[in-house]
Amino acid sequence: MSLIVQKYGGTSVGDAERIKNVARRVGESRSRGNQIVVVVSAMGGVTDGLIRLARQIMDAPPEREMDVLLATGEQTTIALTAMALQAIGVPAVSLTGAQAGIVTDGVHTKAKIQNITPKETHRLLDAGNVVIVAGFQGQTPGGQITTLGRGGSDLTAIALAAALKADLCQIYTDVDGVYTADPRVVPDARKLQEISYDEMLELAGSGAKVMQLRSVEIAKKFGVVFEVRSSLNDNPGTIVKEETRSMEKIVVRGVALDKNQAKVTLVGVPDRPGVAAKVFRALANTSISVDMIIQNVSHGSETPLTDLSFTVDKPDVEKARAAIAAFKADVGFEEVAIDQQIGKLSVVGVGMRTHSGVAATMFETLAREGINIEMISTSEIKISVLVELSKGEQALRAVHDAFLGKPDR
Ligand code: ADP
Ligand code: ASP
Ligand code: MG
Repeated sequence: MSLIVQKYGGTSVGDAERIKNVARRVGESRSRGNQIVVVVSAMGGVTDGLIRLARQIMDAPPEREMDVLLATGEQTTIALTAMALQAIGVPAVSLTGAQAGIVTDGVHTKAKIQNITPKETHRLLDAGNVVIVAGFQGQTPGGQITTLGRGGSDLTAIALAAALKADLCQIYTDVDGVYTADPRVVPDARKLQEISYDEMLELAGSGAKVMQLRSVEIAKKFGVVFEVRSSLNDNPGTIVKEETRSMEKIVVRGVALDKNQAKVTLVGVPDRPGVAAKVFRALANTSISVDMIIQNVSHGSETPLTDLSFTVDKPDVEKARAAIAAFKADVGFEEVAIDQQIGKLSVVGVGMRTHSGVAATMFETLAREGINIEMISTSEIKISVLVELSKGEQALRAVHDAFLGKPDR
């Protein structure tokens, strides 16, 4: 008998028929003699709808209340999924994150899981039930409801698989695996049989929303091998696991476009030691994470001035604006410009460690397309460039074609 954790995302539980489809699949898997824990997301669009509703009430709703509100999305789905299973004669019990023993810190809207006590889940499984756990939510030791950041049901599933020492973790979604690029944007994208944790991390951090970033970090940390596959067919999915030697033969595993970044430029910053430290310390103190950074050559001779640009997540733009206003007098710069019309294009592959020329090919491809590169950043297995948002998808397709377009590569 195997213990399997299956996670079904928003589209997979998008309406009553889809929920019945999930119940059928879970029932089949159980009838093969497995114990099953199901993690579900809110029905597609529900979380976004709740956020819109909150903003109709006030501009910046308190994060504690947002968590109470958003957790209802998943709570609806667990109950409906348990009912759908019971309706076909499968014993099933729903659990909220708190009931499933998921304990988090108190950072509302992006809480981190501290530990999971799966006692109740084990008890219910041993009594013959399918256990349906609400994704994306937990509870602080003091009893406050928290959520784990957008896409957080992936994290619930991976963390539960680790805590339960599950034999298998399956992430069911609306595509049948991880592709070389988002198949909705790049029609030529191909499904990958396997991908390493590090590559999946870099892709998830570069805008490929197929897996939530933090869930992949936890999978790597606890060695949870998982499969991404479709809830709508039986095609084999993509296995995400520790890197193997043979993976290095592929130079570029995938490409991604992140449209969720904004570029902030501080114009006319005094070019002297300690200034950058002040700027980035102030941003860090307000929990704003900065990705790419570029500093121009300075101009002027008496007090040399420079321009300092960096990228932040779009939802953090207003927080960044406030932090910058607060340190303006101390740091002293002429003005701030914020550009939200940008996209970050990344190519990822562990093979880059041992192959050269990836940057050259990427830049040549963009040059051929007449696309200007505004910023560049690299890691051992990733190269990212910032381009104009309106050209982002064109750039993505061209770069995908250059590295992954030919079937024999
Ligand atoms: P779920 O609701 O099941 O969590 P998501 O919408 O969060 O599903 O993630 C699945 C979506 O991720 C797909 O519909 C696809 O458009 C998008 N996606 C982005 N990049 C990739 C990729 N490289 N491979 C597969 N899907 C991708
Ligand atoms: N419902 C949450 C969201 O939309 C969590 C998830 O779907 O994973 O972000
Ligand atoms: Mg998701």
